[in-house]
Amino acid sequence: MKRIALMTSGGDAPGMNAAVRAVVRRAIYHNVEPFGIYAGYKGLMAGNLKKLSARDVSNVIQRGGTILKTSRAPEFETEVGRSRAVEQLRKFDIDGLIVIGGDGSLHGAQELERIWDGGIVGLPGTIDNDLSGTDFTIGYDTAVNTALEAIDKIRDTADSHDRYFVIEVMGRLAGFIALEVAIGGGAEYVLVPELDSDVEQLSLHLEDWEKRGKTSCIIVVAEGEQEGGAEGISKLLREHTKRDFRVVVLGHMQRGGVPTASDRVLATQLGSYAVDALCAGQTGVMAGIVNGHLTLTPFAQTWENKKPLDKYLLDIIPSLSV
Ligand code: ADP
Repeated sequence: MKRIALMTSGGDAPGMNAAVRAVVRRAIYHNVEPFGIYAGYKGLMAGNLKKLSARDVSNVIQRGGTILKTSRAPEFETEVGRSRAVEQLRKFDIDGLIVIGGDGSLHGAQELERIWDGGIVGLPGTIDNDLSGTDFTIGYDTAVNTALEAIDKIRDTADSHDRYFVIEVMGRLAGFIALEVAIGGGAEYVLVPELDSDVEQLSLHLEDWEKRGKTSCIIVVAEGEQEGGAEGISKLLREHTKRDFRVVVLGHMQRGGVPTASDRVLATQLGSYAVDALCAGQTGVMAGIVNGHLTLTPFAQTWENKKPLDKYLLDIIPSLSV
């Protein structure tokens, strides 16, 4: 392994910079030259690569977003696009590639690995936490804390004005952020894409809470919830209960910001480990931490083995809302 390249791809996530820093410096430690690819697969196909020094990644561990930029690159989903990427990797004499991104980016890495003779190791960089092979993805903890801070503030208004709020958090296909935020924010109810939304049951709960003297409530909804997220649910709830529900969609604010300590540590561990793994001849795997142990999981397993939501956390929410 003489030269490796690294990229951030797909949705940005806080902690990506900490991973980039770790990859660059660990590579230098192994006497491997690190190259940054700018703007994910788009930059790779265009040959937008630059050698990185230890100084290029100074003072970035605490910054959100990604200094390497990121992109969505539909052209990479075609054979023509991927062969252009391989040409560039050969032109720059790259032996190993590290892809930091979500499940789309790892799908791309798997496709690339079929037609390129270098090694590829992935890192789970997504706020959604929807990849198996790691207990937590890079960016998830920060996104949860950002959403939680917003919910704490909304709770002040809900309480002062005796209002009911429906708050939508990110998660098109997975309810990890919604569940964690609901528990941490003491929300009365949570709706996630993985489960059917029972609006009638929720309406009965609302009646019951009112009888018990509750005057405000917070319902957390993941954006991919089946009735159409916070807008869809609040419309149904208004019809069922004849009450008013205020809707707040937290949106992109959950993606940015200073990474938490947990995300920085996770990104630094995984970035270093990905370089170690490449140097040891590993390929076609994602680096992660499961039960406190560094692990490598074949790409396909990271999306085929669906990571379940914590059933106990789901179960206890209604019992704590009384
Ligand atoms: P994320 O990595 O955050 O899930 P995307 O799903 O947008 O984000 O994927 C990022 C990029 O990965 C896409 O723009 C595309 O270039 C590449 N990609 C996604 N899915 C595939 C696929 N099935 N085959 C090849 N490349 C893919």
